[in-house]
Amino acid sequence: MKNIVSLKVQCPHCLTSLMDYDNKLNGYPSIKLNIVTPDDRGVIYICSLYECFDHSADIDIDDNTIVDFYCPNCNKQLQVKEECTICNAPMAFFVLNAGGRVNICSRKGCSNHYVSFSDLSTELIKFYNQFGD
Ligand SMILES: [Zn+2]
Ligand SMILES: [Zn+2]
Repeated sequence: MKNIVSLKVQCPHCLTSLMDYDNKLNGYPSIKLNIVTPDDRGVIYICSLYECFDHSADIDIDDNTIVDFYCPNCNKQLQVKEECTICNAPMAFFVLNAGGRVNICSRKGCSNHYVSFSDLSTELIKFYNQFGD
């Protein structure tokens, strides 16, 4: 069976943990972010399991809407100068506690997201040692 890995992420600007231990998704702490859509603003909880796309938000988000993600602590936008290779929406990113970063597409309904490491082999070993079961 595949390892279930719960990602622990931080804000790339203020390095505060984005993990919410009170609002779990699939039994694991969620990643809590402030969001802004063209018609509303709210809070989203994203599942922290690697390769899981579950999330819940306190506002309705229409499919294909591009959502802006903000750090709940410093309120800076979590956006990279990079476009989704599938739908061309801006990508948002978090920093992994274990090193490397997680990029996610900001368009609702697009499942593009990936983890990138500066040095894949050593970072992956660290990653699984720290978070793998
Ligand atoms: Zn921050
Ligand atoms: Zn996309």
